[in-house]
Amino acid sequence: MAIRNILTKGDEMLNKKCRTVTQFDERLHLLLDDMKDTLLNSNGVGLAAPQIGILRRVVLVLDIKKEPEEVVELINPEVIAVNELEPTIEGCLSVPGVYGYVMRPTWAKIKAQDRYGNWFEREGEEIVAQCFCHETEHLDGHLFTEKVTQYVDVEQLEDE
Ligand code: ZN
Repeated sequence: MAIRNILTKGDEMLNKKCRTVTQFDERLHLLLDDMKDTLLNSNGVGLAAPQIGILRRVVLVLDIKKEPEEVVELINPEVIAVNELEPTIEGCLSVPGVYGYVMRPTWAKIKAQDRYGNWFEREGEEIVAQCFCHETEHLDGHLFTEKVTQYVDVEQLEDE
């Protein structure tokens, strides 16, 4: 296992559409294990494979609503249901130091495959729902900054 380098905005890998995963093999498991190390080392709550330069539809979400926290592996994920959208402050490991308001659901349901190829569904609230949407968008080459309605001063955030 290894901590991989996280690419930042401006790297063209972050603007590409990722390929569907069809082989649930050792290579995928190694990628997932490396992504887990990288995510846990980053203080982030989610990581998509293109952020480490791998153009495959693989995402990790840290479910901080679970006790203990759980790293959820999502292969070929699709957000299949959301509730009404609300302005929510968001950031991204690939856009360090930048925060802004994005319209996000407070509840979402996602459909995905696990590391062995089994389909499952999972629901998330608040930051977890937000993360399902944010990370899935990375797989189509989109960054949250495309959706920001208002940027937020980081120092102001720290005062709150
Ligand atoms: Zn991101």
